[in-house]
This record gives sequence, structure tokens and C-alpha cells, in this order.
Amino acid sequence: MNRRYRKTVIAANWKMNKLPGECKPFIQQLKDKAAEAKWCDVVLCVPFTHIASAVKAARGTRIAIGAQNCHYAQNGAFTGEVSCRMLSELGVKYVIIGHSERRQYFGETDTDVNRKLHAALEEGLRPIVCLGEKLEVKETGAALDFIRCQLKAALKDITVQQLRKIVIAYEPVWAIGTGKIATPQQADEAGEAIRDTLRALYGARAARGVSILYGGSLNESTAGGMFSMPDVDGGLIGGASLEAASLISIIDAADQ
Ligand code: PEP
Repeated sequence: MNRRYRKTVIAANWKMNKLPGECKPFIQQLKDKAAEAKWCDVVLCVPFTHIASAVKAARGTRIAIGAQNCHYAQNGAFTGEVSCRMLSELGVKYVIIGHSERRQYFGETDTDVNRKLHAALEEGLRPIVCLGEKLEVKETGAALDFIRCQLKAALKDITVQQLRKIVIAYEPVWAIGTGKIATPQQADEAGEAIRDTLRALYGARAARGVSILYGGSLNESTAGGMFSMPDVDGGLIGGASLEAASLISIIDAADQ
């Protein structure tokens, strides 16, 4: 982390878990820790069906509500989809874009990710853009090149002003939900490659302001080591974010 230049962000990704009625008690448990965490922005990314309850429960707290996906069109004949304008009107502040589960199970391409990124920024949402290599790419030793390519594709035609609103999450696919966490050194190396690419595209000043999160089987016992690395500015947390107590411990680790 480097608090001089950028925010620490702890973003919970509930995926397709919990019920709308569970938002209020969860936020009640989390809100004091979020208020106390001076250095850290706390984001709770919930399923679409939970957004209204979560936004209501988070009113007056330092917890921002995020969505886990969006469509790139403002409206239209896209049955079952949800636009950024709809999310924004509900009070959503962040949106996860290009999560590996979206890429893997729903066929999202780099072009989709780029279109969604433009749409989110246009509606004033803060995108959390996910990048990360699969195991087979890691095994060929091409992980960093792969991430650089994903990043460049995601950022096509994004301006330096828009970059300020974007959070990047490095999430190696082999680490998501598997219990096989990257080492802090591996995460930092990926963070550094991402920042170097941002520097080449947007200049040093813009690059150093971007928060780069790590995601993939992070939990309360591994968070401290991960957050001690210079190019890990927080976490995107799936499984360990389902229990308020473990999310609170992770926020504590990030706020040291
Ligand atoms: C995620 O869903 O983004 C994630 C990192 O999941 P987990 O923490 O469960 O690996």
C-alpha cells in the first residue's frame, strides 16, 4: 500500500449468496468498523435483488454499495439485464466489471469489459475492473503479459480523467474460491506490472493514484501479509466476506 498516493479499498463480493433480508443485519455489524477505518473505503457488492435493501441499510454509514455486473447499454431490448443508469438511480456507487466468473461462465470478452467500463463511468459509477490469468497461462510463465493485454483492452479509449475513478483488481483465476492464494510477492509483482502499464499509457502521476486490489482466497489470516506489499492497495473478497467477523478482521488488517 502507498497511502500517500492512493486509497485503500476493501470490496466484498457476495456473488450469488445470501438473501435481501440479510443486508440490514450484516451492515449493522459492519458499520462501526467502516466508520473507524480512516484509511480504507469499504464496499459491499451484492446481487441486484439486494441493492435496494443494502442501499437503505447503508444510508448514513461509510459503507458504499456496489453491483457485481452491469450491461453496457443505457436501456433497450436486453431481457434480464441491468443498466448502469438503473444502478446509479438506486444509489449504487461501485460496479465490478469483468469478474473471471462472468468471463468464464457468461462468455464476457475484453470488448464487453471495455464497453461496460465506458457505460459505468458515464453514469458516475466507480468500476472495479478484474484481471487475472488462468492456471494454464501461469504455467507457461506468461501471466504478466496476459494481464497487461487484458488491462490495455479494458482501458481502450479511457481518458486520464476517467482513470481516476477506476479501481483495478488482480484476481488470478486459479486462486478464486480455491483456497490457493497467491503469495504476497506474486500479487505485488502483478500489481507492479499493472502499474507499469498504466504509467506507460497515462503517465506516472495518474498511474500512482490508481488503487490495485488483490482478490483470490484472501482471508483474515492472509490479509496482513498481502496488504504489506507496495502494489497491493486492498482486496476484493469473495468467500471470506460472507461472515461479518472475517470481513471486519480484513478491514482491520487494511487499516493498520
Ligand atoms: C472474488 O469473487 O472476487 C473472490 C476473490 O472470491 P474468493 O475470495 O472466494 O476467492
